[in-house]
Amino acid sequence: MQSKIWLSSPHMGGNERKYVEDAFAANWVAPLGPNVNGLEEDIARYLLPEQANQFHVAALSSGTAAIHLGLILLGVKAGDEVICQSLTFSASANPIAYQGATPIFIDSELDTWNMSPEFLEKAIKDRIVKGKKPKAIIPVHLYGMPAKMNEITSLADQYEIPVLEDAAEALGSHINGKMCGTFGIISALSFNGNKIITTSGGGAFVTPRKEWAEKARFLSTQARDPAPHYQHSHIGYNYRMSNICAGIGRGQMEVLQQRVVQRRENFDRYKKELAALEAIHFLDAPEGYYSNRWLTTVLVKDPVITREIVRLALENAGIESRPLWKPMHCQPVFKDAPFYGDGTAKQLFEDGICLPSGSNLTEEERDRVVSCIKTVFS
Ligand SMILES: *Cc1c(COP(=O)(O)O)cnc(C)c1O
Repeated sequence: MQSKIWLSSPHMGGNERKYVEDAFAANWVAPLGPNVNGLEEDIARYLLPEQANQFHVAALSSGTAAIHLGLILLGVKAGDEVICQSLTFSASANPIAYQGATPIFIDSELDTWNMSPEFLEKAIKDRIVKGKKPKAIIPVHLYGMPAKMNEITSLADQYEIPVLEDAAEALGSHINGKMCGTFGIISALSFNGNKIITTSGGGAFVTPRKEWAEKARFLSTQARDPAPHYQHSHIGYNYRMSNICAGIGRGQMEVLQQRVVQRRENFDRYKKELAALEAIHFLDAPEGYYSNRWLTTVLVKDPVITREIVRLALENAGIESRPLWKPMHCQPVFKDAPFYGDGTAKQLFEDGICLPSGSNLTEEERDRVVSCIKTVFS
């Protein structure tokens, strides 16, 4: 039996242990400490090397926590409406529900598979006519491909609605050199186990506003007012990253750039081997767009062989693959939420599949994936 090939598994660089051992040696086994501060600085420097000191990061227990605190800082409350990309992981939308607000879902466009600026504008206008201006816009860079941020942020500016950027899948991606994670007034990163780098579980809240990063740190550590006893004037959360996890993160930041190169190589190799198949379609990056290719995804467009046939063939060969995210407006839990679109995301879900994309994938494993897919179509 050949070994299992995973979709995206953790890939340590080596120095993670050193940072974690430092934490043990100093007994900083807590949701604060030098690794947490160091990771925050590493992230700021990576995203904005020239102006790292004007950029502020709060390391948290997850990307979901970063989105949740983002909505809280943007003042989202029960009964409010928040615009969100429909084709995404549920973690983009769940925090809207945590706040008792209503998600307004937006369809995808075909150049990047992300939020359609056209339907975004339709939705904003229609929600205003219906009496409520949305409180925030959450675009996502799916599988690492940047969303059309120039168009989305200019609409956001025009209608004066803040952008909460979900950059969970796009650390290392950029548009003409401007990094994903720097487009929002608040941005969220994730270091979950399947992401391009991992802290086993973790995330980051990123903002150009120093006072907001401080507020995020305050809320993420149970909102303790400065007093010798436990004094609270706000509802707090237990969302801070531990110094142990942050140690893993510091080691991972040292190899992030290599990981981007390795993931992009997966895409290039798959494309080279499979592009000749008429049924298989790759998403090329628009001019000026640079994707970290967190996951290589393809569309299966064939009159007979469906995406599901391909997925099952891979599964039978011991290869993990996944359909694209099922759009949020098609999920039972969000069935009553308003949606603006034309069916693009749903079609992408029906045709799309994510191929094994780990940065630790060997050439031999990639060949197994390729030959399995070629066999399905032969
Ligand atoms: C992974 C992910 C998140 C959530 O991150 P966690 O760290 O797992 O909470 C949010 N949005 C998207 C698009 C993601 O892929």
